[in-house]
Amino acid sequence: MTAQSAGTSDVEPTIVDEWSLRYERFDPAREGLRETLCTLGNGHFATRGAAPEAVADGTHYPGTYVAGLYNRRVTRLAGRSVENESIVNVPNWLSFSFRIGDGPWFAIGDVDVLDFSQELNLRTATLSRTMSVRDAIDRRLRIEQRRFVSMADPHSAGLETVLHAENWSGRLTVRSGIDGRISNSGVRRYSQFDEHHLDGVTDCLPDSETVALAVRTNQSDITIAEAVRTRIVGAGISVDPERRVIQEPGFIAHEISIDVNAGESIAVEKIATLFTSRDRSISEPLAAACSHSARLGSFSDLLDAHSREWGDLWKRFSLEFEGDGASTRLILHLHIFHLLQTTSRNTLDLDVGVPARGLHGEAYRGHIFWDELFIFPYLILHLPELVRSLLLYRYRRLPEARWAAVQAGFSGAMYPWQSGSNGREETQVVHLNPLSGRWLPDASHLQRHINVAIAYNLWQYYQVTGDIEFVANYGAEMILEISRFWSSIARYDSELDRYEIVGVMGPDEYHDGYVGAAVPGLNNNTYTNVMVVWVLCRALELIDLLPEPRCGELRECLSLDDAELARWEDISRKMRVVFHADGIISQFEGYEDLAELNWDHYRQRYGDISRLDRILEDEDDTVNAYKASKQADVLMLFYLLSADELGAILGRLQYDFEPEIIPRTIDYYLQRTSHGSTLSRVVHSWVLSRSDRERSWKFFEDALRSDLDDAQGGTTAEGVHLGAMAGTVDLLQRCYLGIEARGDVVWFDPLLPTEVKSLTLDIRYRQRWMNIAVSDGRLTVVVSEWGEGPVRVGLDGEVVELAPGEQRQLTL
Ligand code: BGC
Repeated sequence: MTAQSAGTSDVEPTIVDEWSLRYERFDPAREGLRETLCTLGNGHFATRGAAPEAVADGTHYPGTYVAGLYNRRVTRLAGRSVENESIVNVPNWLSFSFRIGDGPWFAIGDVDVLDFSQELNLRTATLSRTMSVRDAIDRRLRIEQRRFVSMADPHSAGLETVLHAENWSGRLTVRSGIDGRISNSGVRRYSQFDEHHLDGVTDCLPDSETVALAVRTNQSDITIAEAVRTRIVGAGISVDPERRVIQEPGFIAHEISIDVNAGESIAVEKIATLFTSRDRSISEPLAAACSHSARLGSFSDLLDAHSREWGDLWKRFSLEFEGDGASTRLILHLHIFHLLQTTSRNTLDLDVGVPARGLHGEAYRGHIFWDELFIFPYLILHLPELVRSLLLYRYRRLPEARWAAVQAGFSGAMYPWQSGSNGREETQVVHLNPLSGRWLPDASHLQRHINVAIAYNLWQYYQVTGDIEFVANYGAEMILEISRFWSSIARYDSELDRYEIVGVMGPDEYHDGYVGAAVPGLNNNTYTNVMVVWVLCRALELIDLLPEPRCGELRECLSLDDAELARWEDISRKMRVVFHADGIISQFEGYEDLAELNWDHYRQRYGDISRLDRILEDEDDTVNAYKASKQADVLMLFYLLSADELGAILGRLQYDFEPEIIPRTIDYYLQRTSHGSTLSRVVHSWVLSRSDRERSWKFFEDALRSDLDDAQGGTTAEGVHLGAMAGTVDLLQRCYLGIEARGDVVWFDPLLPTEVKSLTLDIRYRQRWMNIAVSDGRLTVVVSEWGEGPVRVGLDGEVVELAPGEQRQLTL
């Protein structure tokens, strides 16, 4: 395959083929971005693709993050005490450097780089770096490094370094250790906060080849222990290497020296283990890290197991399509890859959700948002058991959500907009506008629609798996309690004979209130109101669906009486939806009266206007005054609901709904949206996929490049955007193939963009694997041999039953 460039011709990386990308020069200005994109992880922990010899210095930012490992700090700021909970950057197991003789330790900026190549291989999940360098006295060294974070063993990782003395003989020293002299400093905006999370360092030398270090988080009291075993291997070594231990506060390493002759190479294998006190089936993390390290095989043994595991994963997530260049396929693979590095089978046993920015950086402090709404529907069709486990993260935090509802004067369960360790609200109370330098109140916690997202995902899980046991034991309680919250926040207006929801925010984060209002919040956000009706309908459906005696038990335990169910029913028929005078569905009550923004003026003046909120605030204005959205809000309805479903809800609410309102509404908001969130393009691509395929494809392409090209100008260095990553792949899966699991039928209604000639993937539905292919105007559905009983498949308005091994074709 011919090599292609990802962006304009001089922008890296080069796309080697659909499985690997390569950087051919060191580029300090984009190193942060590269480190994020080259992050390796296994669903338990992930390590940024920083150079092993690097420390955080403004160019490089080594970071390792463990799923679910958070810590809180309190900072005095702008006259108040601000508490933030953050995912913690744990000690750097990668730390590795070398030097020739008594020369300086290797730093890429200090040597002449003769050639350079860094390659990320997605199929084997390895990162390699090769370079030839020359020092000030013309000693040439060739360096080849490979690393992995084991998908086969959630506690191990490896780095192999081969050093080749090209034209000199002498002493070569390597330093291989663990660097705990770190803090969270990956996001400049957060630098005024206390980001010192680790204390209580201890270290030890479990055996002659291994050094180990343990630290403790200073609030959550979690111990993190790492051990690294370093071995010199390979032929051509004339004398035994000399080893000494370097122990400094927060740092421990082996320094190993060896004499090499010109033309000789040495290979150094560094195997790392990582355990925390949150891990199960261990007695103590440091002891576990050391004993595990002693038992592990060689670098190549571990790499083989790791690659095998990835091979199995790729089978489950295979995606083939023709028609577009290798770069699209590469990016889709990259998106699946980063998703699975954040959450995989290694996550099954952990009590975690999916952080919006992955385990790849510190943006949003590793918090979990509604982005799961863009992630779970994709994952459910491949690894449903993983989604089950991720949903349990929410179930365990039900008490906290109940408490939050009570504190806010409501009942039921009110899940937080941003969630971390214990499910309390983690949204920051003030945020910095870097343009104006002002600290501003943050009202985004009013995005109560997160409670819609959780219910929606639960329902999707159930539709795809039919796992009524899960619903009966966990899911129903969440949906009922969420419904109860919505019922308590909805208030009845007798004059209108309608229910209203006031004081909330929709997905569009530009609008957090009315100009001049004493308190933040908007009234009757349409996305929220309509989806609340959807949730209440599902809750009522559940009551009929749940087997006895579980239904009775639940109702008794939740004191859910008939009167309350009658109120839900009433709300689901009388919720208020605001329309503009011309029939456009309004984003919220009052939106129609806002001023039009002079988009051309702002585009000309600022170029990138994705952060219009910051721009206007800096101009002493407010985006609240304008018809301008950061991202899809009303249009989310068309993303989550089919036209029929939306029509049915609006009909239930006794609003006239003409389908022609959909394209008009899409058009209206398209003209007023800046796409300041990477999620926005995914949604727009989806909602336009059938009506305006050209435009939809353009949004798809832009969404694809959000992270690879760092489209938001600097945010990817702080972590990937997992919602957009999963969302783009899901566009191929659920949108282009028109997959919808409803009742006990899986429906297919494919429509490929003209750019895609054929598309094939496997999905898992009701414990069965199915192969779905669209090519040459034909859809083929094949049910795997394995499994009992038929699968009910909906094609062209008809339901057919396909037995194991059976296939069906449909001419499109
Ligand atoms: C978006 C939210 C999203 C969050 C985390 C924000 O910029 O507006 O919708 O949940 O990022 O990804």
